Amino acid sequence: MKNYLVDPRDQLFVLYEQLGLDKLCGIEPFEDHTREIFDMVLNEAERYAVEVMEPTIKDGEDEGCRLEDGEVKVPKSFHPLYERYCEGGWISMSREPSVGGQGLPYLLEVASRELLNCNAAFCAYPGLAEGAAHLIQQFGTERQKNVYMEKMFSGAWSGTMALTEPGAGSDVGALTSTAKKQPDGSYTITGTKIFITGGDHDLTENIINMVLARIEGAPAGTRGISLFLVPKYLVNDDGSLGRRNDYTIGGIEQKMGFTGSATCLMNFGDNGDCYAELVGEENKGMRNMFVLMNEARISVGIQGLAAASRSYLNALKYSRERIQGADLANFRNPEAPRVPIINHPDVRRMLLWMKSHTEALRAMIYFAAWCEDMVRATRDTVEQEKWHGMVEFLTPLIKSHGADIGFQVADQSIMVHGGYGYIKEYPVEQILRDVKVAAIFEGTNGIQALDLVGRKLGQKQGAHFADLVEYMKKTLNTGMESKNGVVPLVEAAQSAVNTLEEMGAFFAQCSKEGKFLVPISNASPFLNMTATIISAWILVWQATIAQQKLDSLSQEKGVTPDDWVNWAKFIDDTPDAAFYAGKIASATYFIKNILPQADAIARSIKTEDMSLIEIADSSFGPG
Ligand SMILES: Cc1cc2nc3c(=O)[nH]c(=O)nc-3n(C[C@H](O)[C@H](O)[C@H](O)COP(=O)(O)OP(=O)(O)OC[C@H]3O[C@@H](n4cnc5c(N)ncnc54)[C@H](O)[C@@H]3O)c2cc1C
Repeated sequence: MKNYLVDPRDQLFVLYEQLGLDKLCGIEPFEDHTREIFDMVLNEAERYAVEVMEPTIKDGEDEGCRLEDGEVKVPKSFHPLYERYCEGGWISMSREPSVGGQGLPYLLEVASRELLNCNAAFCAYPGLAEGAAHLIQQFGTERQKNVYMEKMFSGAWSGTMALTEPGAGSDVGALTSTAKKQPDGSYTITGTKIFITGGDHDLTENIINMVLARIEGAPAGTRGISLFLVPKYLVNDDGSLGRRNDYTIGGIEQKMGFTGSATCLMNFGDNGDCYAELVGEENKGMRNMFVLMNEARISVGIQGLAAASRSYLNALKYSRERIQGADLANFRNPEAPRVPIINHPDVRRMLLWMKSHTEALRAMIYFAAWCEDMVRATRDTVEQEKWHGMVEFLTPLIKSHGADIGFQVADQSIMVHGGYGYIKEYPVEQILRDVKVAAIFEGTNGIQALDLVGRKLGQKQGAHFADLVEYMKKTLNTGMESKNGVVPLVEAAQSAVNTLEEMGAFFAQCSKEGKFLVPISNASPFLNMTATIISAWILVWQATIAQQKLDSLSQEKGVTPDDWVNWAKFIDDTPDAAFYAGKIASATYFIKNILPQADAIARSIKTEDMSLIEIADSSFGPG
């Protein structure tokens, strides 16, 4: 099967050779699973993604969504796709069997979703259904679980998350949607929500909206926000569908990409009769919604990863096929044979940039998923807190770095394609447009950076950050002990981890001294620096493993790198050797060419430059 979505060899490397997914088998709650099951699931995800989903990507964009008589119609090809998605059990893969899930490791789900997210616009529909169901599982009443949750976990009904309003985007606390308590304990909602993904569609018979609103008289700001469940169709006691709820779809947005996903304007309660049920406690809505938002942020990172991966593999394919220019050694000779563009140093630079960033992002997201599985696989509450804390710290990084890398790799891929990269016949221009939204929704990347600096860095007195730094140091020390050829890379990564630790201490000191504007103004550079250092660490960790495997393969064949003719043949003829050498190349390139940027950012932050605060608004320019 030709797969230009995800490199399965790299997936297997991260899953088994780096993280040890198979070691979870036999440990509660994964005791019924085996490596064979994991491999089967991943193979099936690959087959379904390549054969069934990929053909709907362009189709979905060309047809887009339509609003007809107040109802949204999604692209036709999404209907059979959705059916097969639910039948295949791609929803709720890692949820407990007691709620209809398959109890698989989250790491396996994330690896599968990297493949399935080739059509991210489609995946938003089932993804939000699952996330909304999880909210009900965590905070809903027994009745709400019975009536709504299982139907959503199975994909029979879908869900949304409705936070944004015209005057309340990043500032969710400014929302004005209002809830009024009714004598029977239910509520009525009035207000307008904008930009709601999957706010309406014709894939399922019912849609359960998770809506944030303020109960009349509740405090201002986020402290007064409650979470409500607002069904499209009310549900009768016998489970059948009742009346259409009192909300309308005011329009769907015309977007630069991601057009198969319906982005809706929703007007609630124009007739004063929009039925809603409180989920969880009054005024705790914002805190509870974070369960869904954190899951959604990891999903956005996966969307970025899928875009990066597909962009890279398409660029690689094109660079091997496109003949243009002579080899550098013959560049003065007009008669010299023309070569595939992969021969040109500048194209190789772009390819290795894409390869190393994509692999680092994959490993970063899979690592966070593995931490989640460790929370489930351990009974020790201190250990659980440690693994969970690392996920907390990594979440804003995964969301924003994933979005940025998805976009930047797509951009590089367009450059490798030259003029054809700009043409719709090739997939990369759509990838670039589709993935741009990843930097915007679920909280813009700027807001993620503030979350990282303002909340995550100091969370539990900095324990989550300290645990991650300690874990990074531990894995790098193991690399040193192996004393193989990657020691200089390990040393460079160790030094970078020290820089990260120092920057955490520097920000803590700034806060103590009341210099809050230093970390706040530098939140985005700090996030980029942290993502770069984590990427360097994780690639070097991979290189230590790859080097050991390459050493044993070469010993078996009796070749050494000094014997360069036989070494080149060994690499070309031995797929695993080529793969491991590629991993070492990714780490080497990243350490030598990208990691120095982290040092530069650290130096610039420490200047405590305040020009962006000090410049007068009028000095920015006209207007
Ligand atoms: C395609 C699409 C789908 C979406 N789906 C959903 C959905 O399903 N549910 C939902 O509720 N919302 C959804 N959204 C809304 C999305 O989450 C918001 O657009 C986003 O949070 C930004 O809000 P805003 O557009 O109002 O921008 P603004 O909040 O106006 O931000 C504009 C700029 O100012 C910056 N900024 C704002 N406040 C601050 C601050 N305090 N400090 C520093 N910088 C700041 C932002 O980072 C940004 O760069 C979707 C949006 C799009 C485009």
